[in-house]
Amino acid sequence: MKLAVVGTGYVGLVAAVGFCELGHEVVCVDNDGPKLQKIRDGVMPFYEEHLQQLVRRYAGSMLTFSNDLPSAAREAGVIVIAVGTPAGENGEADLSYVEAVSREIAGAITSYKVIVEKSTVPVYTSHWIRRSMLLNGAPAGLFDVVSNPEFLREGTAVVDFLYPDRIVIGGDSQRAVDLVCSIYRRLEDGSYHSEPTGITPPRQVQGGTRIIKTSAAGAELIKHASNAFLAMKISFINAVASICEAVGADVSEVASGIGSDSRIGSQFLRPGIGYGGSCFPKDLKAFRAVAREAGYDFRLLDEVASINDEQGGRFLRKVRRALWTLKDKKLAVLGISFKGGTDDIRESPAVPIVRALAREGCHLSIYDPAAMERGREEFAECHTISFSSSAYDSAKNADALVILTDWDEFATLDLKAIRETLKYHLIIDGRNLYDPAEVVASGLGYVSMGRPDFFPENHPVAQSPESKRNGMVAVRAV
Ligand code: NAD
Repeated sequence: MKLAVVGTGYVGLVAAVGFCELGHEVVCVDNDGPKLQKIRDGVMPFYEEHLQQLVRRYAGSMLTFSNDLPSAAREAGVIVIAVGTPAGENGEADLSYVEAVSREIAGAITSYKVIVEKSTVPVYTSHWIRRSMLLNGAPAGLFDVVSNPEFLREGTAVVDFLYPDRIVIGGDSQRAVDLVCSIYRRLEDGSYHSEPTGITPPRQVQGGTRIIKTSAAGAELIKHASNAFLAMKISFINAVASICEAVGADVSEVASGIGSDSRIGSQFLRPGIGYGGSCFPKDLKAFRAVAREAGYDFRLLDEVASINDEQGGRFLRKVRRALWTLKDKKLAVLGISFKGGTDDIRESPAVPIVRALAREGCHLSIYDPAAMERGREEFAECHTISFSSSAYDSAKNADALVILTDWDEFATLDLKAIRETLKYHLIIDGRNLYDPAEVVASGLGYVSMGRPDFFPENHPVAQSPESKRNGMVAVRAV
């Protein structure tokens, strides 16, 4: 099948190479000319595992690039809209990019097309796209609109696209829904999963992927409600972590106990400095606005957002408690992307924490495996922030080490080597990447989220111990 994918961002570019993997011919369309040229030259606009390899595999054959939307739309049978839907002023999604694309398509098509809405959009957007197309001259019988939301996660985007938990396809035209289902046939029947040159599955894959067919409104709501639910799970465990700290319990034990209930599940129950990225914060606001518009006051979502907003402040209080005043303290900072596996720092909870620490007079040495370039731009004006070439380089001559992103490599540091370079022998971990016993056994104190602070018995901070266990001293938050 011939597809045009409009928007070469995290979703569009990943979907485009994913569709090539499934055997389709794809033209990627974007109105950002320099970005397209870079991709053509093999330079990816963002970091994502497997992406460069797949772009190189298909570019020039099954994958082409264009900034000419009208002609791409005329030649393709299916046009996938994957442009941004940022938060507008009152939290509603700004759909102006989606509308601009639908207007251009409307004026161009001369044969039947299926318009696939892959951007995350409020309920009824597919109706608005249809209306806009009609108003802009597209004949009614010449197109259908189908909602096919995307659930990929940055950091594991390619694998998520090719091994999804489910594919949601919503539309009111059977013909169009069937056509979009057929694009995913090789995932549905599982044949892609036994492809020798295919991307390795993340887990044991049995059978094909379930396709869930719904109305267009149903599909649009599934996406918003899924993101809101996941954000709620994160805020829930962060709230539980606060209670754990107050009573001296360990949130890891509590989360494991909660998550072992199959009705709840263990994912998204790790406390930390909060969720971020380009999706959860804006989608939560947009869903709140959708509910308001529909006459339902979804106050639960306000609380989810406000718990999340408080996490940065809670973490900063931990840093102050551990180090007392911050002026002229030297901190090694690990991670500024909003989560591990990506260079995306949009709405990253690490960014305001770094700014606050710098404002309070800290000297920060930052290392992130992928987001250094973006970090340099973000903090260009701040002279007390520097960048290091590795976690160990960052820790050199620092007073303490601060972990802000859950990169895998930060969870497997040589802690003894880190201890040698840190003046205060202390790790403050906003992502709970370590078992406290492991850190303490390396001679380091460990401050994390939702757990007591732990120190080796001979650490200066452990002079007035509250409780001792296995060579470490647990100190309750003051
Ligand atoms: P992005 O900002 O990375 O990319 C959007 C792209 O669209 C940009 O390259 C931009 O130049 C292009 N664009 C904008 N207007 C255009 C136009 N008129 N013609 C051609 N190109 C145009 O966005 P993203 O992160 O890929 O997100 C896209 C959508 O997918 C959003 O609705 C988002 O909420 C949703 N989504 C994102 C993720 C994620 O993890 N990033 C996951 C699932 C869903």
